[in-house]
Amino acid sequence: MSGELPDHASRRQQLVSRLRERGISDALVLEALGELPREDFLPDSLAAEAYEDIALPLEQGQTISQPYIVALMTQELHLRGLERVLEIGTGSGYQTALLARLAREVVTIERLPELAESARPRLARLGLRNITYVVGDGTLGHPPDAPYDGILVTAAAPRIPQPLYDQLALEGRMIIPVGDETHQMLLAVTRSPRGLETEEICGCRFVKLRGAAGWPESDED
Ligand code: SAH
Repeated sequence: MSGELPDHASRRQQLVSRLRERGISDALVLEALGELPREDFLPDSLAAEAYEDIALPLEQGQTISQPYIVALMTQELHLRGLERVLEIGTGSGYQTALLARLAREVVTIERLPELAESARPRLARLGLRNITYVVGDGTLGHPPDAPYDGILVTAAAPRIPQPLYDQLALEGRMIIPVGDETHQMLLAVTRSPRGLETEEICGCRFVKLRGAAGWPESDED
C-alpha cells in the first residue's frame, strides 16, 4: 500500500513469521495476511496494537478476532480460488478481506447495521469487489446464493445451525465455534455423501452468535 508507515509493513511481516511458527502452513493464507493492513480495520487508538497476535475490541461490544484464529479458520476452509464462501459476522471486515482474496466470491452477513456499514467502504478501498453484503440474521444463511463451498462463522453458536448445514455444498466445509461463553470448540463440519462429519480443531473464545438458530437476541454476553 502506498503511503503506509514502514513500521506497519515490517511488523506485519513479523506477524506472518509468528503465525508460520505457530503452525499456519498454507502459503496462500500467509501471503494474503502479509498484504492486509489490519490497522485499517481498527479504531485509530488501537492502530499501534494492530500486529499483536491478539483479539481487539470493535464498536458495539464486538471484537476483531486474533490473527492466528483468522488464519487458522481460513486455512481450514482449504480455499484454492474457485469457491463461493458464506461468512457470518462481518464485524470489522478483516476476515472478509482475507476470504475475498482467497475465494472467487464471498457473501458476508452482519446483524448490526452500523458494523456492516463501516466494513463496506473499508473493503471497497482495498479494491475488493467480489463481496456481497447482507444485513440480517446470519444463522439463517443466505439461500439465494446457496450452496456454498465454504461457510465460516465468526461468533459462537449453541449448536450447528441447521439452515447453514442445509446451504453447504456436498463436500463443502463449515468452520464454526460451538459452545457457551466459557467453553467453546472450533469445529470443521463437512457435508459428505454419508452425511454430517465433524472434526474438533481447538478450544476458542468468540462473542455469541445471536439469532433464530443461535443464542437468544436479548441476554447479555
Ligand atoms: N470476523 C469479525 C469478527 C467480528 S465478532 C472480525 O474479525 O472483525 C462477531 C460478529 O458476529 C459481530 O460483529 C456480531 O455482531 C456478529 N453476529 C453475531 N450474531 C450474528 C448473526 N446471527 N448474524 C450475523 N452476524 C452476527
